[in-house]
Amino acid sequence: MAAQTLQLRPLGNTGLNLSSVGFGASPLGKVFGDVSEQDAFAAVREAFRLGVNFFDTSPYYGGTLSEKVLGKALKALGAPRDEYIVSTKCGRYKEGFDFSAERVTKSIDESLERLQLDYVDILQCHDIEFGSLDQIVNETLPALQKLKQAGKIRFIGITGLPLGIFTYVLDRVPPGTVDVILSYCHYSINDSTLEDLLPYLKSKGVGVISASPLAMGLLTEAGAPEWHPASSELKAACRAAVDHCKGKGKNISKLALQYSLANTDISSVLVGMKSVKEVEENIAAALELATAGMDEETLSEITDILKPVKNQSWPSGIQQS
Ligand code: NAD
Repeated sequence: MAAQTLQLRPLGNTGLNLSSVGFGASPLGKVFGDVSEQDAFAAVREAFRLGVNFFDTSPYYGGTLSEKVLGKALKALGAPRDEYIVSTKCGRYKEGFDFSAERVTKSIDESLERLQLDYVDILQCHDIEFGSLDQIVNETLPALQKLKQAGKIRFIGITGLPLGIFTYVLDRVPPGTVDVILSYCHYSINDSTLEDLLPYLKSKGVGVISASPLAMGLLTEAGAPEWHPASSELKAACRAAVDHCKGKGKNISKLALQYSLANTDISSVLVGMKSVKEVEENIAAALELATAGMDEETLSEITDILKPVKNQSWPSGIQQS
């Protein structure tokens, strides 16, 4: 029998094929607690070895630390550059938001230096609901197009929390301007609202990356970090779901990741990882989904526990679209 490998899925019209599990590198910026460089390198190495080809970071994560650590870790792989796909972002920084053409044009050079790369595969405008969406359409995306022509980036994306930002922008730019969207916390067991947008995105040929399948820690035994923006009601419901699984000897994170992976219209599910143990657990969960399916009984029990808070989100940005 052939060895099982992580599934590759096409990303919209880009021609890229992303591993179904993507490596979210925000934890490498220590946003979910301390991580040694050694653990970070080992996690990236193990992920690559097990078939993960997609790595996502941002200058914002850990105030540029995530980019620096990821850059070193990728270099240490010694792998040909076309064997891994790197996405970073622009417009959101420790100092605040700036989606001006001038800033994002400078930003990519800074990111490439930190990542020790000549180009990134995807550059995304980071959390655009904190800026003017009309500026994104009229100024930021045209600036990114120039970076594409200059060969510094291959594809262009936009990210953020409120789903309305994606239709707002995509309805106002020529086809092919935005290659990919990255949505987060909207395709987990507790919130699956991204599903409604998938046919629209498909019709536009836009690739879909869904991040935070563990709801940024809510669906983990360790729980959410201090800064997590969920309401106390949502946090309590997720804690109850975690405890229920624990009581049954089940791992809620495994189930949560499998839930996101089960929708193949999502090209890659980005999960934040900071140790070899998490990498191995998450890849094993993906492979098991492909062969044995999901634990439907436990999923249905958790779904019931989370019903009162289903699709509850939190405000994000200076405007709600
Ligand atoms: P997540 O839901 O992936 O949760 C990450 C947390 O879960 C971390 O604490 C991690 O250590 C832990 N974890 C991972 N695997 C685990 C396992 N098997 N068991 C127990 N705990 C486990 O949230 P995230 O990291 O915020 O999202 C994933 C990635 O998506 C980010 O790293 C980032 O790259 C990207 N992202 C982008 C945006 C944006 O562009 N606006 C927003 C959120 C996330």
